[in-house]
Amino acid sequence: MIQSDPRILPASAENIALAGESIRQGGLVAFPTETVYGLGADATNEQSVAQIFAAKERPRFTPLIIHFAATQAAAQAVDFNALADELAETFWPGALTLVLPRRRDCAVSFLAGAGLDTLAVRVPNHPVAQALINEAACPIAAPSANRSGTVSPTTAAHVAENLPGVTVVLDGGACPLGIESTVIDLTDEFPVLLRPGGVTREEVETLTGPLAKPEFAGQASKSPGTRDRHYAPGLPLRLNAESARSGEALLGFGPGAPKDAANLSPTGDIVEAAANLFALIRALDRPEFRAIAVMPVPETGLGAAINDRLRRAAAQYGDRREP
Ligand code: AMP
Ligand code: MG
Repeated sequence: MIQSDPRILPASAENIALAGESIRQGGLVAFPTETVYGLGADATNEQSVAQIFAAKERPRFTPLIIHFAATQAAAQAVDFNALADELAETFWPGALTLVLPRRRDCAVSFLAGAGLDTLAVRVPNHPVAQALINEAACPIAAPSANRSGTVSPTTAAHVAENLPGVTVVLDGGACPLGIESTVIDLTDEFPVLLRPGGVTREEVETLTGPLAKPEFAGQASKSPGTRDRHYAPGLPLRLNAESARSGEALLGFGPGAPKDAANLSPTGDIVEAAANLFALIRALDRPEFRAIAVMPVPETGLGAAINDRLRRAAAQYGDRREP
């Protein structure tokens, strides 16, 4: 007989309560939704969200979907407009994700939203997902529970095989839909279909009218025509800096950085650095500075994703490496 995997726990009320407690304490839990299994963490905890990226070995910080137990809870994180209200009313709980503007007082981690001013939100229609979010009593950030570049898992066994580091997988059986949620961006002049998924385009279009293609996302906003929208600070970034020049803010990393500088991680912990990345860049992105000088961050582990994001932010002003 095949030995059962100790990381896989039946989704009993008791185990869901334990898993909810683990999420509240900053842990990661893989759990079933009606679409695919998600790798969940407290969406308001930057450090826990950084652990998601580390576990998935994602080479880049892509924004995650934030899962709520009810529309009311989602409305505390993002600003709903009339169309969003209608879509939520019709399709939630369900396999539809809405991208909406973050509220000013939004408690969700900046890393979970990849630093963007928008956030993807969803209310899943799966009893285990619902119960887990209620037990955790916080929004849950959850991408698919697989290593980056591999297929999304639809059973607990897939998750355990594919993510060796995952410690808890709530087993709620096979996912009823088995494909990801449909993602609609409502932050533009017209609604955009970013990703086809569990709810069909036709169903959505009965409410939205014709959906625009992803190529059109962002056309109405400042960053033109990008499927790959990313957070860009207002100030230029100067990478691989050894110190700040006159008028520059300094973003340090590790014990070698000046004590008075903002520091991604004073101890040189790369997961902590990822957790602090977007929040610190935002804090330094102020008009009294002319640029942000960023000290080198090692390429190891999440360092690759941190450097990817820093390079993208720097590239829009041309490469300003230290000579
Ligand atoms: P996953 O978490 O792997 O299911 O993927 C989430 C999907 O939602 C990806 O296609 C993301 O690009 C998309 N997404 C999440 N947040 C945003 C956002 N703020 N703006 C645009 N797309 C988003
Ligand atoms: Mg995925």
